[in-house]
Parts: sequence; C-alpha cells; structure tokens
Amino acid sequence: MESRDSNKNSDPQRAPSGVWGRILVTAALPYANGPLHIGHMAGVYVPADIYVRYKRAKKTDIKFVCGSDEHGVPITIRALKEGVSPQQIVDKYHAIIKESFEQMGISFDIYSRTSNKIHHETAAAFFKKMYDDDLFEEKETEQFYDEKAKTFLADRYITGTCPVCGNENAYGDQCERCGSSLSPEQLINPRSTLSDAVPVKKKTKHWYFPLQNYESWLKDWILEGHKEWKNNVYGQCKSWLDNGLQSRAMTRDSSWGVKVPLPDAEGKVLYVWFDAPIGYISATKELTDDWKDYWCKEDTRLIHFIGKDNIVFHCIIFPAMLKAHGGYVLPDNVPANEFLNIEGDKVSTSRNWAVWVNEYVKDFPGCEDVLRYVLAANMPETKDNDFTWKDFQDRNNSELVAIFGNFVNRTFVLMHKLCGGKVPKLHEDILDETDKALILEIENARLRVENAIEEFHFRDALFEVIDLARKGNKYLQDKEPWKKVASTQSAVTNDQQLIDNCLHLCLQLTANLTILINPFLPVTAKKMLHMMKVVDKMLDWGNAGKIKLLSIGYSLRPPELLFRKIEDEEIKAQVEKLKANANKALSPKPKAASDNEEKSQIKNLKSQIQFDDFAKLDLRVGTILSAEKVAKADKLLKLEIDLGFEKRTIVSGIALHFKPEDLVGKQVVIVANLAPRKLKGIESNGMILSAEDENGKLHLVNPEQIINPGAGVS
Ligand SMILES: [Zn+2]
Repeated sequence: MESRDSNKNSDPQRAPSGVWGRILVTAALPYANGPLHIGHMAGVYVPADIYVRYKRAKKTDIKFVCGSDEHGVPITIRALKEGVSPQQIVDKYHAIIKESFEQMGISFDIYSRTSNKIHHETAAAFFKKMYDDDLFEEKETEQFYDEKAKTFLADRYITGTCPVCGNENAYGDQCERCGSSLSPEQLINPRSTLSDAVPVKKKTKHWYFPLQNYESWLKDWILEGHKEWKNNVYGQCKSWLDNGLQSRAMTRDSSWGVKVPLPDAEGKVLYVWFDAPIGYISATKELTDDWKDYWCKEDTRLIHFIGKDNIVFHCIIFPAMLKAHGGYVLPDNVPANEFLNIEGDKVSTSRNWAVWVNEYVKDFPGCEDVLRYVLAANMPETKDNDFTWKDFQDRNNSELVAIFGNFVNRTFVLMHKLCGGKVPKLHEDILDETDKALILEIENARLRVENAIEEFHFRDALFEVIDLARKGNKYLQDKEPWKKVASTQSAVTNDQQLIDNCLHLCLQLTANLTILINPFLPVTAKKMLHMMKVVDKMLDWGNAGKIKLLSIGYSLRPPELLFRKIEDEEIKAQVEKLKANANKALSPKPKAASDNEEKSQIKNLKSQIQFDDFAKLDLRVGTILSAEKVAKADKLLKLEIDLGFEKRTIVSGIALHFKPEDLVGKQVVIVANLAPRKLKGIESNGMILSAEDENGKLHLVNPEQIINPGAGVS
C-alpha cells in the first residue's frame, strides 16, 4: 500500500481511503519507424524500469505496460520511400525495438502494439462512446487532395520548392535544408509525393475535440491539484493553459490507422495522438482480465513516464479524453524528462547523430548494466543533459569498477583469505565507533534511496547507492584487516575477532548493496546473489537496511568480475563511428570517380551498336518484394520483383554483395524482355542491372527516388 501526501486537496479522482491500492505505470509508446536510441532510454524507459523494479521489490501491486505506436503519417511515408507496405515497416521496427528493450532489461509486463485487433477495437469503442455522447464537433474544411491517387494529402505528403532557400524537395510542413516551417500553400510548384500530381483543394469532414470546454477543469486539476508535478511538466502545462485551448481534429484522411467507426467516414482514421494513449488501455486489457482494476478503480495510481515532447498529449489531451469519456482514472503523475544530447549536439535521426541501442549491445556485449548506469547517473531530469563517450568510460572505470566493483571484490577476496570463505561471526561486545557508524550508514542508505525514488529523483537515488559503496571502501581502508593477519601470529588474541567484525559488516553491506542496486542494475544484482549463494527473495526491499542478511558460517562463492575496465581504444572507436555515420548521412551519394578511374573504365568499350539495337531492350523499374539465398549456390539470390503490372522471379548472381534482408523494398532496373533461363532449377525472368566499382563491389542501379514500379527506362 502506498501512503500519499496528506496536503493534497479533495480531488474526486483521489482515493477516498487515502491509500493507493495499486499502481499502473505506462512508458511512452515508441514510434515503430526506427530503432531505439539512448535518448529514448534515458528519458523514458530506464527511469520507468527503475521505478517499477523498486516497487516490485516493495511488493506493491504494480503493472508496467508499453507497446509500439504503429500508426501515423511518418510510417506511411517511410513505407512509400522504401517501396513496402506500412505493415512491413511496423513489423520490422516492432521486432527491433522489442528486442532492444529485452536486451536492456526493461521489464514490461507486456509490450504490445497498436496494430493489434484488441487495440483497434478499444480505440474505436472509445471514440464511438464520445461520439454517441455528442462530445465532438463536426467540421468541414478544405484540404489538399491528390486527384490521381484519389486521397487527401497530409502536409508531409506534399513537396515542392522552398520559397526561402530554393530546395526543390521541401515538405509541405517544413524545409529540411533550411529548417523553415512551411505550409503547403507556400511551396513553389507543389507536387504530391504519391503520384507527382499537382495537389488541389477539396472539402473534407472531420471530428474535432473541443478542448476549450475542458480548460477550466484542467486548470483546476493541474495548476491547483498537481503542484507536486515536476517543474518542467507543470510549467509546460501552465503555458498551454494560459495560451488557451482550441478544438483539435481527432480524425485524419488516411488508409493507415484505426478506422473511424461511423458509417459516413470512409477513408478516415483516428488521429494518431487520439489512438496512441488508448494503447495503454488496450495493452492492459491484453495483459490481464482484471484490467478494469488498473483503469477504473479510483485507488489506482496511474503514472505516465514520457519525454518532454509528449507532455501536452499526456497532461492535457489524454486526461481531457479520459474525463470526457468517463469511467477512467486520471494520471496522478507524469514525470517527464528533458532530452539527452550526444557529444554536445542534439540527437538527430535524419543526420544519424545518435547512439543506437541495438548497436550498443553488439559493441559492448555483457555491458547492458553499464549503459543503464550511465544513463541513470546522467538522466536529463531537470534540463537537457549530455552523453559523451568519455563520460561513459569515466563513470564505468572510476565509479562502477573503482568504487562499487572494487568494494565487493575486496570484501570477497579478503573473506576467502582471512575467514575461510565463510561469513564470519559478529562480536558485538567489541564493536567500535567506526563499526557503529557503518551500521548506521547501512540503515540510513535505504531511506535515502527510497525517498529519492519516490520523488522520481533517480540520479540522487543512484548516487546514494554508490556513496554507500564508497563508504564501504573507506571503512575497509580504515580497518586494514589484511594488516592484522601478521599480528595474529604474534599472539594478540582478539585480532581474528577484529577481522571477523570488519568482514562480517562488509558482507552485510554487500548484501544491502545488492538490494539497493537491483532496480538500477538488475544483471549485476543477479551476479551478486549468485556469489552470496542466496535466492531472489533476499532482494525484497524490506530487507534493505538490515545487517543480518547473511547467516554466520554460511560459505560463499569466490568473487566474480562485476564490471570490466573500458579501454581508450573502445571509446575512440565509438566516437569515430558516431562521426562517420553522421557524415554518411550528410553525403549519401558516393564520391565521383576521379578522372583516372573514369578513363580506365572507358578503355574497354564494347563495339558500337545502332539505336535500333538499344531500342530492343525493355528496361523497367521494379521493387524487390523478397530476396532469399538459393540453396547450394553461394552467389545466387532468388528475388521476387514487383513490376506494377506483374510480379517476377529473377535469379541474380549478387549474393556475395548484398544481404537478402537489405534488398527488400529497394528498387532496381531490370531487363524485362530477356528470354527466361533456368538457374539451379529456378526459372529466372529477366536480369538486374548493377554497376561494379573499382574494388569489384556491385551496386544496384536504381532511380534516385522511389517511383512507381513498372516505369520504363530509356
Ligand atoms: Zn528551405
């Protein structure tokens, strides 16, 4: 049971008994159009996981839900660019994201996805109830329409020339070259990215949620009722509310998303920010039949962990939706974090300025806890913070290795050497001031860590744990049990007793460190349990602060290495990789061949042909739908290619140059009228064009941007 602040006002959403019955923690749904980077982890998932693991250790009834957000315009655009379906995009990234979470030990009770049927049903029913209660405004407006593709166009689907810098590929909402924010009307020569048609204006009807009707309730609920929210969160809410709220469209013209559950809504889906937060409800439904306990019982404490870019959606729009719908609890806290920058620069996925979680776990196997540590110690709790690889190395080497790991290792080595590998006795009659001070530190550390986590001050909480280990090192240094061995032989009778007391306390401190570090570094805690030969049950938070966790005479295992030193070369390699990736993203086109290379390739020209010979070739653009290796043929790939009017199987000798999975969605130019031939028993219907570079590597020949498959090449 959770105690609550006594000074809170009598909001009807609060439990009348004054005690929380259970907690529901949600973590922002990651958007399934790219992998996770460490900014996501530091901002949302590491703090949420620390909180949940701590509460589980306290035996609180708690559920932790999350899932992939799989709707919205950027996913349809990405699908279009890669020449695949939106479902293929979300399937790909959902799998990558889910695996990264598992590898980083983010312990969701469920990781769902918004393309699931249960979510579509839940979100549609939520909308329908609000519609039936007459809570929406129907409005007809004019929006851009593509007459060729027969669809309305979100601003992102329109490209044209930027009126500011002349970039020919500016979007209808923004020019990515000069950063100007634009509207489609401002573009010179606007075109639809779907069909290249000139967009026209057409009337369309949408359902708007009149947020202004909830303004005074929101002001009361947040500005008066939740003064304990973090300053950055409270401040952003206040600024939105002070500026006045307006109706916001809750539907969009699109074929990808949750269909609007009304008869006259063909081609319309729910706005992604209407459906995504309902994903928390759907995921809880999927998790447990008791989902209503977590969403509808007023003694449930709902906490949303998010990044600062999602504050308005979680603190204003979603609570207003829940309030309007009725029957649901409201968030009690939304501990949003600021952003984590990388090496002094903002994370940018388009510039590839990021540290990707799936790459980190490959580059630093077995070091998942190190990343959790550095991200927690550097968490952007009150302002944007910076991640640098140097700081990563320093924190690992001088905190995890030199303080925490060192204390545990010394304790175990000395215990094996001086106490026969068993937990020595505690001789209470000869405890001195230093011993008593350490016992007090152990007792107090629990409260300090606990208070900090309850307040969502995860950096402070982690600092307290490391500080306790630091005090352990100081204690060992002061006691110098290794010096007492020699004098034992010189017959000072109670030296062994002094050694016993010192190592007994150090071992009890180690047991306490295990409990306290567990929410932050779960893999490390497991290793420590193994060394102490104790079961998970010892991790119960109620054990923290006690000094009788390990029984006297119990034999313990030899020490294991908890953390390894990270070398300068590893750090240098990461910094270089970061910069190289960013450079690649800036100049995607390969360097032009030098004069000499060009000439050497011109030398061996084939004999001249007439135009009619060339005209016999039917060259077409195709999109690769699938690619797989051909059995018993190292060089061959079997490709399925979409030509728009038909699908083709082509066997191509490019297997040594491309991974099959990298080819899916790529466009190629093929010779479409080449007579079929059989390769390894498979009939190949055409040939793929590729170019060979000076190193003998093959590169696909394709249009400079994705176009309709089947287009002729001449
Ligand atoms: Zn521009």
